Amino acid sequence: MSTIYLYDTTLRDGTQREGISLSLEDKIKIAERLDAFGIHYIEGGWPGSNPKDAGFFEAARSLNLKCAKVAAFGSTRRKHTAPEDDQNIQALIDAETRVVTLVGKTWDLHVRDVLECSPEENLAMIQDSVAFLKQRSKEVIYDAEHFFDGFKANQDYAIATLRAAEEGGADVIVLCDTNGGSLPWEVEAIVAVVTQQLSAAVGIHTHNDSGCGVANTLAAVRAGAVHVQGTINGYGERVGNADLCSIIPNLQLKMAMGSIPDEHLSQLTELSRFVAEVANLPHDDHYPYVGASAFAHKGGIHVAAVLKNEDSYQHIDPTLVGNHRRTIVSELAGRGNVLDKAQEFGLDVDRVLAREVVTQIKHLESRGFAFESAEASVDLLLRRLQPDYQAPFELIDYTVIEGYRERRGSFAEATVKVRVGSQIEHTAAEGNGPVNALDAALRKALINAYPALADVRLADYKVRILDSENGTGASVRVLIDTEAGAQRWSTVGASTDIIEASWRALADSMEYALLNGVAEPGR
Ligand SMILES: [Zn+2]
Repeated sequence: MSTIYLYDTTLRDGTQREGISLSLEDKIKIAERLDAFGIHYIEGGWPGSNPKDAGFFEAARSLNLKCAKVAAFGSTRRKHTAPEDDQNIQALIDAETRVVTLVGKTWDLHVRDVLECSPEENLAMIQDSVAFLKQRSKEVIYDAEHFFDGFKANQDYAIATLRAAEEGGADVIVLCDTNGGSLPWEVEAIVAVVTQQLSAAVGIHTHNDSGCGVANTLAAVRAGAVHVQGTINGYGERVGNADLCSIIPNLQLKMAMGSIPDEHLSQLTELSRFVAEVANLPHDDHYPYVGASAFAHKGGIHVAAVLKNEDSYQHIDPTLVGNHRRTIVSELAGRGNVLDKAQEFGLDVDRVLAREVVTQIKHLESRGFAFESAEASVDLLLRRLQPDYQAPFELIDYTVIEGYRERRGSFAEATVKVRVGSQIEHTAAEGNGPVNALDAALRKALINAYPALADVRLADYKVRILDSENGTGASVRVLIDTEAGAQRWSTVGASTDIIEASWRALADSMEYALLNGVAEPGR
């Protein structure tokens, strides 16, 4: 098994994504996690460009990394300046990393129109800068910016820039698809030409602008690249960089190329979620390999087949990457979906009951419910059909008053009467709207018996109009997301009456919390 070296640039290229801003502490946390996972190189940032990146390198010196080498990133010396007089090169040395990644120009168009220097001066800039850092015992990775575009425009010159880096002593020469427009077969053919002409190790750095970031990386590896640059979750400028969370399992599971220790691969999903969390971005359910939907089965026929043989509708065993198979219960479900879901919830459901649940779900979905994004409501549906089921509370009635009064403005009040065990609780509460008032009144009714409900918080409330052609007589669907500590669950309600739809989702949310120990009495 040949080894492919992984170079993560989440902390530099990744932070160029619109909407990401990582603090110094965030960067340290991510670096430690990448190291524990088995990434070989972590690019910490551009020390010459901003004080936060310089601060990262200072902090990184005291990190106890087991596997990864930290790399500082910067460009080749300025034109007509000696490397020792170049501030950017000095900042790279001041970063005190073992590895320095230098980016230089490949494309004659950039040399002429952007750098505005002679082609020869650009070659000297590359060679001098690499050699200067090699003399200071750095491992030097040379990133050839716009390599593929440069190669297509002027092959001889593009190769000459790589030779300059090689003669300077670069350890790895990385071919960058900076604009992300290349296609896999072009990348494979061009990398093959380069690997024949150079003796230095060749690497690949791609962006996803044509939707081929991962494919281009794999194509380069097929043609002999041994060093792969990318980011976690494909974060990066514009549409992003090549996603290491897809590249790593593809290399390891499908191309027999070792990159990280086999036993670490099952931490991939967790790593992907961790980085999303630190970056404060939602984790996309539809990420390949690591998304919550990556191994989710919805159609009844698929589920029935997967239950017989997991390989029938899955490209890999999801546990290899730390993910898991999921069954989705919806109107497309069959009995298998329900049985599998019941098992996941730890409920004992037989085939007759499962059939009944399928019938109920189909009926409720025809009325506007949607269970696939409301698994807590599915859990309750299954529990309520159990012969010995005892609900933690039962609704007797509720009222909601909403109005407007001069001087007071608009107001909302709700009363709730529920049975909790042998007690009847009758409460009233105000809110900033009818649903908020209903939520407050229900909590008030339950809080004596279940004090831990105080920790349960409504996190999101979504309303969708289902048949808009009926105007104000349309059905609405309400989805509520609820949180308690690190747990989060979703419930659904539907009706032509928005208050009733909201009540159903709200009551399900509280019932689920109580039944699943999310809010244990006296916790
Ligand atoms: Zn890049």
